[in-house]
Amino acid sequence: MDTYREPARELPVSHDVDVVVAGGGTAGTAAAVCAARLGLSVVMVEQTAIPGGMVTHVTHWLSDFANKGGFAREFIEHLQGSGICQWPYHNLFQTTLYLDELVHASGVRHLYLARAAAPMRDENGQVCGLVVESKSGRHAVRAKVVIDATGDGDVAALAGATFAVGRESDGACQSISLSHLLTNYTGPAMGNPDFLALLDRAAAAAGNGYRIPYDRARVQTLAGTRQCIWNGTPHVCGHDPLDAASLSDALVALRRQCREFHDTLKHHTEEFAHIEFGPIAGLPGVRESRRIRCDEAVNYADASGGCRRPGGLFLVTQAIDIHKCREGEPDIYVEKIKPYHIPYGALLPQGVENLLVVGRCIGGDHQALASYRIIADCFAMGEAAAIAARLAVKGRCSPRAIPGERVAAEMACLGYEQ
Ligand SMILES: Cc1cc2nc3c(=O)[nH]c(=O)nc-3n(C[C@H](O)[C@H](O)[C@H](O)COP(=O)(O)OP(=O)(O)OC[C@H]3O[C@@H](n4cnc5c(N)ncnc54)[C@H](O)[C@@H]3O)c2cc1C
Repeated sequence: MDTYREPARELPVSHDVDVVVAGGGTAGTAAAVCAARLGLSVVMVEQTAIPGGMVTHVTHWLSDFANKGGFAREFIEHLQGSGICQWPYHNLFQTTLYLDELVHASGVRHLYLARAAAPMRDENGQVCGLVVESKSGRHAVRAKVVIDATGDGDVAALAGATFAVGRESDGACQSISLSHLLTNYTGPAMGNPDFLALLDRAAAAAGNGYRIPYDRARVQTLAGTRQCIWNGTPHVCGHDPLDAASLSDALVALRRQCREFHDTLKHHTEEFAHIEFGPIAGLPGVRESRRIRCDEAVNYADASGGCRRPGGLFLVTQAIDIHKCREGEPDIYVEKIKPYHIPYGALLPQGVENLLVVGRCIGGDHQALASYRIIADCFAMGEAAAIAARLAVKGRCSPRAIPGERVAAEMACLGYEQ
């Protein structure tokens, strides 16, 4: 491969804090807010313009909150109390504003449209912050503890942690999705069989061979609205979420699916004749990419057998749901699990100090990931990382030196079922 040697350069250190969180998405927002509330100085670096990641760009359905405490409980109680959530659905746009308030009130220094480009290293080669690329240029955020909440484990990988990607047998990842709104719909809600039958009739009328990309679709209004329908049908397989060109191709294909879905409904059914094409999410719905090799891993056997471990931080109760990895596979495969623990060691990348991983990139396998990647569980991981970061900063040590039982005990005090 042709290469270019980038000249070495001095970077300004823009911030010197206790904790820097890479990625202000689901787990990252929870980690940053909780760490700041624990008295730590915190910078949160997010590549998009808003907090929340999948919570505010992709997912309108909330689950696995019942046995959670702390941040997760506060979140769901606020959303339900303020009408942002009509259980189990929430309004992503209003949730963005709520997360803004939480981040601001906690004192987190947020940096939006800023990308975690590399780990910063001290004279011993240990991680000691982040190199950030933003509108201000390239600068460094020095921190005692770094929390990688990028979903993809970008920082851990750049710091030298090893990782696995996708299904163990062939490396294929679950399909990538995109969320989209159709507005001005005045018809009734419609269950899955009725909606699929209507789409079949529309496709036959169109005569263009239209086939819905996800067969679990139904007509569901966005929480708190009367005339906006949630379109979660766009799904593509065979794209690499860690390859910029492949991911870009996926986005274009997904947006084309949004148009085909809209056109088929609008032009070939009476019920949807008045719909209008609404906004498309700015972030793709990536279900899986890197799983960082950590001190402990959460595997299929743990999920199906309900594994409990000493120092388990909280319990996951969500079923495994695997969206197709290749065309021709079932659109979704669901398997029940028994409540199982996420151990602290699954947040500690092997061979790297001063770094925690949270969210869908923690240590685990392809099948278990399809259960623990759920929003409430990512919030809980973020909160656990904040607790561990506080103990590490106080003890002037790496998070690896903190006993998992200590973190678990604090999680239990916050109401997380163990
Ligand atoms: C299509 C889809 C549907 C889903 N449906 C549901 C559902 O119905 N219910 C449910 O509970 N869960 C659902 N999930 C799962 C859940 O939403 C996600 O697994 C979870 O939110 C992931 O959290 P995370 O913090 O790991 O990643 P994200 O929420 O994706 O956060 C990662 C953040 O990091 C940022 N980022 C990435 N790289 C960098 C970088 N280098 N520098 C700076 N910022 C960076 C991203 O912009 C993002 O904001 C769904 C997921 C998908 C993809």
